[in-house]
Amino acid sequence: MIRVPKQKIVIYGDEVLRTQCTPVKEITAELREFIAEMFVVLKRVKGLGLSAPQVGRTERFFILDMSSVSLEHDRVVMINPEIVTTSGEQCGEEGCLSFPGLFLEVTRPSEVVCRYIDLDGQVRTVRAEGLFARAILHENDHLNGVLFIDHIEPAERELIAGKLKKIKVSA
Ligand SMILES: [Zn+2]
Repeated sequence: MIRVPKQKIVIYGDEVLRTQCTPVKEITAELREFIAEMFVVLKRVKGLGLSAPQVGRTERFFILDMSSVSLEHDRVVMINPEIVTTSGEQCGEEGCLSFPGLFLEVTRPSEVVCRYIDLDGQVRTVRAEGLFARAILHENDHLNGVLFIDHIEPAERELIAGKLKKIKVSA
């Protein structure tokens, strides 16, 4: 049974989004329930990914729900993820649930190998490319307090300064 989610998505301006998150020590029943609730929140806002600090929790995990864009990877939970290698380059439009209405062209590696622990405590390694790679890198950044606006040129950042201010104020 899924209760009405209590989680709220943290909006840009909140310091929790700049926090270096700490490793998950144990996959508890409470954590599983928390993650199940994150999937409900993510589906409700039609997002692709959601990291722990975006719902106020400073531990190293994130979820992806690619079911709307890919048949191959639908729901993924990555706990204590580690980017093993990256290669290539891709440029594409990116958004973030913590920045409502803001979309930016962000350049990232086009391929990534990521090692993580799944909800059953199994160590897994995934090789991802394209949008899947982009989503992993974006969410993994959140665990280090890095946001997608950190990946654009200072000049472009100046251009969106007004928008960022508005997002902060609306939070
Ligand atoms: Zn984000």
